[in-house]
Amino acid sequence: MVIAPSPAVTASPWTDPFGRPHTYLRVSITDRCNFRCGYCMPAQGVIWRPRSEILNFEEIERLVRLFVRGGVTKVRLTGGEPAVRRGLEELIARLAVIEGLREIWMTTNGSTLAKKADAYRRAGLTGLNVSLDSLRRERFAEIARRDELPKVLEGIETALGAGFRPLKINVVVMAGVNEDELLDFAELASDRPIQVRFIEFMPFKGNGWQRGDLYPAARMREDLRERYRLTPLETSPNAVARGFAIEGGKGSVAFVASMTESFCDGCNRLRLTADGTVKSCLFLRADGNLRDSLRAGADDEALATIVRDSLARKWKEHPPMENLLATNDHSMLEIGG
Ligand code: SAM
Ligand code: SF4
Repeated sequence: MVIAPSPAVTASPWTDPFGRPHTYLRVSITDRCNFRCGYCMPAQGVIWRPRSEILNFEEIERLVRLFVRGGVTKVRLTGGEPAVRRGLEELIARLAVIEGLREIWMTTNGSTLAKKADAYRRAGLTGLNVSLDSLRRERFAEIARRDELPKVLEGIETALGAGFRPLKINVVVMAGVNEDELLDFAELASDRPIQVRFIEFMPFKGNGWQRGDLYPAARMREDLRERYRLTPLETSPNAVARGFAIEGGKGSVAFVASMTESFCDGCNRLRLTADGTVKSCLFLRADGNLRDSLRAGADDEALATIVRDSLARKWKEHPPMENLLATNDHSMLEIGG
């Protein structure tokens, strides 16, 4: 489908009231998942949205084109698990030809990579984050509620072979659950061209988060410095992660301190949920629904107005962590991180 650019949209990049241009769009392409990670969703009783409520590929492509015309240059596909969406390669290929879109990333649990990493690469995927919270098989199975560690590790090797370098690995660090594996993960980053990103555990609707579960990034850094010399890497002002080189290592480590070290200053992120809702902050209540307007025949300018309205309501930074739980009305599954 070819959509003529709308001059009004081209002329107004997505800038919020604090002057932050928004160049990065995270698109949740499904709320479904083949894992059941405890920090993300309950073991049973998850009610998936009917397929008719989820954006189809034409709608995703149309909306991504709209966002790109407003200045977005990077898209991340997420979910749920994006790789369970049938025809994913086709979607990647459709996005890969959009002029002005420079990067297409995906965050995945890695369960399909052993079979599909090459196909994703050929379709035009430029980068990969693989979630992996334990290197111990039994513990992995407890966290993800699926005994899939060998498959995920094989997938990571296949992805490296397919040219996804540096590959990023996301580790949600939870006190009393996996914080004793930080050094093992750092070893992986030292031995392989991988950036291991340690993420603070965040509260979301229904994930049972308690303050004592948080393992702050400052402590993570202390733990790693017991064995490794870490040198800060230069990072873009929009980066959520603070990266560090490991002396003599092939990869690096990074810390996403969503709870203890605000990185809102340089925020350039917009989110599109699987049901077509635009969110200007992970922790802000949902804003306008683009899907309903799109299905009602809205033109690009009307859709752009919904995005601009959402951006106009964006806050300078999210409130202290004690208040975050109360502000989130979507589950992690729907938003996609
Ligand atoms: N299924 C894919 C995966 O697991 O990578 C993509 C969706 S998942 C919701 C996106 C990212 O959010 C993952 O890296 C996951 O570890 C992270 N995440 C989920 N719940 C979280 C929480 N409560 N706190 C911090 N990160 C979380
Ligand atoms: Fe699924 Fe990813 Fe959530 Fe785990 S973190 S349950 S893999 S969506």
